[in-house]
Amino acid sequence: MAPGLDFVDLQSLSVAVHHCRLCPLGHSRTKAVPGVGAATARIMIVGEAPGQNEDQQGEPFVGAAGKLLDQLLKGIGLSRPDVFITNILKCRPPGNRDPLPLEVQACSPYLDHQQKLIQPEVILLLGRHALARLLPGYDSISRLHGKVIVKDGVTYIPIYHPAAALYNSFLMGPLEQDFKAVKAHLDRMEERRRATAVAAMPAAKPEEQLTLFG
Ligand code: SF4
Repeated sequence: MAPGLDFVDLQSLSVAVHHCRLCPLGHSRTKAVPGVGAATARIMIVGEAPGQNEDQQGEPFVGAAGKLLDQLLKGIGLSRPDVFITNILKCRPPGNRDPLPLEVQACSPYLDHQQKLIQPEVILLLGRHALARLLPGYDSISRLHGKVIVKDGVTYIPIYHPAAALYNSFLMGPLEQDFKAVKAHLDRMEERRRATAVAAMPAAKPEEQLTLFG
């Protein structure tokens, strides 16, 4: 981890990203894109890197892929305020090329700290680069998409990147299925939470039972 990188909140992290020059992308970007969403978000979404629109506006997923992401979230009863969205790289690689290992390594403290500060219940990994960054050594996105993976106490669901589905229409069906898998997981967690709450309720005392029934 780069020395001196420690953050008490998402705001201070965001300020640091806007001033960051830890890799060459800090000199070629228009705007850095730290991420958006609440520190209390239950779901964190991690993509690859800002594209042209994101680089111009300083927000993640604002182009066509962002619109598709919004539709998919809406389809499972969620919207942007329910999630925290970011990327493994906070600055745009020129020409939207793949992230370089050196850039991914330089930028990783930001993502690690975002994860620590938010402590989401589930992290959606959008595409192969996010999968390789957070679950290194695991299988390919084509094999793992839609599956729930727990590692070191953190729950991940790899899914296809919406941009990939826009370029390859045959991925649109699997992407929709992936979001159904996300919904099923969230529903299971909700059921578990309710069951735990009911189990934690104190049993009624005998005199309360008499009052209830007598
Ligand atoms: S990509 Fe990450 S490490 Fe590189 S300059 Fe931007 S914020 Fe810093």
